[in-house]
Amino acid sequence: MGSESVKVVVRCRPLNDRERAFQSKVVLSMDLERCQCFLVKPGVADEPPKQFTFDGTYFTDHTTEQMYNEIAYPLVEGVTEGYNGTIFAYGQTGSGKSFTMQGTAEPVCQKGVIPRAFEHIFETIQCAENTKFLVRASYLEIYNEEIRDLLGSETKSKLELKEHPERGVYARDLSMHTVHSVGECETILEQGWRNRAVAYTLMNKDSSRSHSIFTIHLEICSTDENGQSHLRAGKLNLVDLAGSERQSKTGATGERLREATKINLSLSALGNVISALVDGRSKYIPYRDSKLTRLLQDSLGGNTRTLMIACLSPADYNYEETLSTLRYANRAKCIQNKPRINEDPKDALLRQYQEEIKKLKAIVSGQLGTTNLTGLLTTQSVASSFSSKPLSTEYEGRLAKLQAEYNAEQESKAKLQEDIAALRFSFESKLSDLENAQATRRSSEPTNVNSCSNKLSSVEDDKEDNRVEPSMVTMKGAKSQSAVVDQSAAAGGIVSDGESLEISTTQTQDQKDIMERLQLLEQAVVGGEQVQNQEFRRRHQLRKKFADQRQVQLIQALSENSEESENVLFSVYNSIQEEVHAKSQMLVHVQGKLKAAKLEIRDLQAEFEVERDDYLATIRRLERDGQLMQSLLERMVQLVRRDCNYSNLDRMKKEAVWDEESATWRLPDVTVQKTTLPSGKISWVHEEEDRFKEMLNRSDSENIANSYFKSKRTAQLLGGEPNKGHVVHSMALYNGISQLSLSGSPVNSSVSPDSVMPRPFRLESLDVSVSNGKARRKKGKSHI
Ligand code: ADP
Ligand code: MG
Repeated sequence: MGSESVKVVVRCRPLNDRERAFQSKVVLSMDLERCQCFLVKPGVADEPPKQFTFDGTYFTDHTTEQMYNEIAYPLVEGVTEGYNGTIFAYGQTGSGKSFTMQGTAEPVCQKGVIPRAFEHIFETIQCAENTKFLVRASYLEIYNEEIRDLLGSETKSKLELKEHPERGVYARDLSMHTVHSVGECETILEQGWRNRAVAYTLMNKDSSRSHSIFTIHLEICSTDENGQSHLRAGKLNLVDLAGSERQSKTGATGERLREATKINLSLSALGNVISALVDGRSKYIPYRDSKLTRLLQDSLGGNTRTLMIACLSPADYNYEETLSTLRYANRAKCIQNKPRINEDPKDALLRQYQEEIKKLKAIVSGQLGTTNLTGLLTTQSVASSFSSKPLSTEYEGRLAKLQAEYNAEQESKAKLQEDIAALRFSFESKLSDLENAQATRRSSEPTNVNSCSNKLSSVEDDKEDNRVEPSMVTMKGAKSQSAVVDQSAAAGGIVSDGESLEISTTQTQDQKDIMERLQLLEQAVVGGEQVQNQEFRRRHQLRKKFADQRQVQLIQALSENSEESENVLFSVYNSIQEEVHAKSQMLVHVQGKLKAAKLEIRDLQAEFEVERDDYLATIRRLERDGQLMQSLLERMVQLVRRDCNYSNLDRMKKEAVWDEESATWRLPDVTVQKTTLPSGKISWVHEEEDRFKEMLNRSDSENIANSYFKSKRTAQLLGGEPNKGHVVHSMALYNGISQLSLSGSPVNSSVSPDSVMPRPFRLESLDVSVSNGKARRKKGKSHI
């Protein structure tokens, strides 16, 4: 498996109005032939310009069309052959990334890479011979390290990243949309762009704050001369990255600063991945450091063909960003990928579609038994629920348009008509068989004439009204059981009973469903529509040839650059003076290079310092944020109830687990322990209770309490004994001390001055006569 390096081109936009108003100077120049780029440091006249060589250089007056045809074309063409491809735009905000990727409708030559890729892919598809394609599109954005589906029903919900041995890293639940034409792709792109825009206005941010990835998924089925079909799959990622400017320069604060930190983190992660890949020594590539690098994992050092478009501003004001972008791009071109065709993908939807089409056609042409029909439809609807859902829900409105495209597929349509004709023929012949059998039966069994003629007429009715299926002729009439059994043998599948009409209707419905599904499936697949259109094919070939020629030129230009120095040493000179002259010139050239290299080292060190300061500032800010959170937590934890596990912060910190997959902390559940009194205390309470009970029983039997509390005066006044036998005991708190109050009153447990009066605990220890006197004295006191 051969490897190829990531292709890198640079594109410089013209000075914008603001830069012109400020009379900014142009510090960037390009040698288009040699694909070189020169950057002059503003205000320093004696320093040689910084020089970079790329796979293509596009200056202010170049168009997206030129760039696409020269460098993007072969990559996208590769996708239609089964390779994976990625094109991404990198650069500071306002450098022209979206202009390059999305482009403008006018002038046409500035149409972006994404719509051009649509046109290109569908041109190739339409010219393809004996090849069918299933084209699907998806569109996502990464904002603040969160992935959102721009085409889904819920654009704000976050998607998770998953890894699959074959598919690689992918966003789970990302919606896929089957597309059949350039127009549909453009509609989808627009829809996603609008969703992006809506999100921005809601969150008050602009397009440069998120990374977006539009992906076209192709499944390709080609049939060779032996009639064998081969499946391949290709994927094209079109990436518009967020702005790469340094946060200190933008002067961002608050939410913007936080966003910028995240953007910087993911772009730094991208830079680190590139560095690690280029370094060659590092075994560990930090793909997992950001969502962006995880999603682009295959495009960087993987099996994908990758093109990076570094967008630049020519203004002196942006010198630092331009230099940083150029260095980034220069490193990226050293990444080696190992592109390979994705043969025979296991989870190809196209294979499922084809198998389903085959089965449906078999049913339609009557090859399968009718008993299988309903079952098959059921299983298919389950198996293909994934495919049928988007087809039916999203494209119903555009059915008319699809119909027009379908008409172009004359071949399959003709075949379908043939199938229908065969169907009709089969029906007719079975019907005539049935009639013959009926006639025979009538002549042999004269007693059954009436019932048989009834049945036949009902068959005729069915034929006229219900268009019954050939193998399912239904009959009516309760008296015809025996005849029906015989005839079913003759006609091959005659059904008879009261439910027959219902079955027939269901089966007719099934037939309709089959035809509809068949049509839908055949429409989902595209390819070869313009194969007869010579002009169309010629144009396609021309573009392909142009791109190939440009590749050869590019390789030549790049090899000339490297051979130049060697030529001086190995060429033959006529005289020694000539040789001295040539070599001294070479020496001057090399000395210039040495000087430039030294300056580059100095600049890199200076830039490193600036970058370090930037990172340190970020760390300090994050530390401050962390401290604030910690202080808040410490205050708040005091408000948490003690029996809740979150009242112990240190324990919670220990129990929290970092989940690498979702890049989030998994925190312990909130639990509240049930309040249970310590066992010692309970036994004390019981003990006390028991003691009181015992005391009561005893006192009851001894009647000490009654006699002790006996209010003679009350008794005298009432002229009788106070109630006996009903003793209420209650625990009352008196000055915080648990007290037992005993009263002769049976029901009234409300606290009376008597009941709250402290009473001696151990009644048995008291002398009755003394107690009586005490009671009298206390009562008297309370009255006072
Ligand atoms: P970015 O996406 O990098 O933040 P944009 O693509 O939005 O930047 O470009 C910023 C502005 O510059 C837009 O108004 C765009 O029309 C203009 N622009 C960018 N590149 C070019 C170009 N090559 N030619 C003309 N105008 C350009
Ligand atoms: Mg943009």
